[in-house]
Amino acid sequence: MEKNQIYDKFSAIIMEMQSVISETKEMRQLISTLMEENAELTIENEHLRNQMMTKKTAKKQPRLSKSRENLKKLYESGFHVCNASYGRRLDDGESCLECLDIIYGEGK
Ligand SMILES: [Zn+2]
Repeated sequence: MEKNQIYDKFSAIIMEMQSVISETKEMRQLISTLMEENAELTIENEHLRNQMMTKKTAKKQPRLSKSRENLKKLYESGFHVCNASYGRRLDDGESCLECLDIIYGEGK
């Protein structure tokens, strides 16, 4: 190998190393972008999952007819809606199975 050839070879190797370095930098940039995206998606995913869970639990409550909805409001504001005690006040924290059956029950 002549002196000139050695020098050229050296230059070529240095060029190659520089290109590897700049590619490595680009990759590092790409990785940090991907990690940011990943973090955002993780947060968004969690958010959506929470929304779905809230919808699911909301769906579990059967939809009440308008008249049952009214009875429910009345019951929640503290009055019996059952036949036995209709219109009578519920005691604090009292719940009445007959009222609940009329609001949520299977029967008519
Ligand atoms: Zn009642």
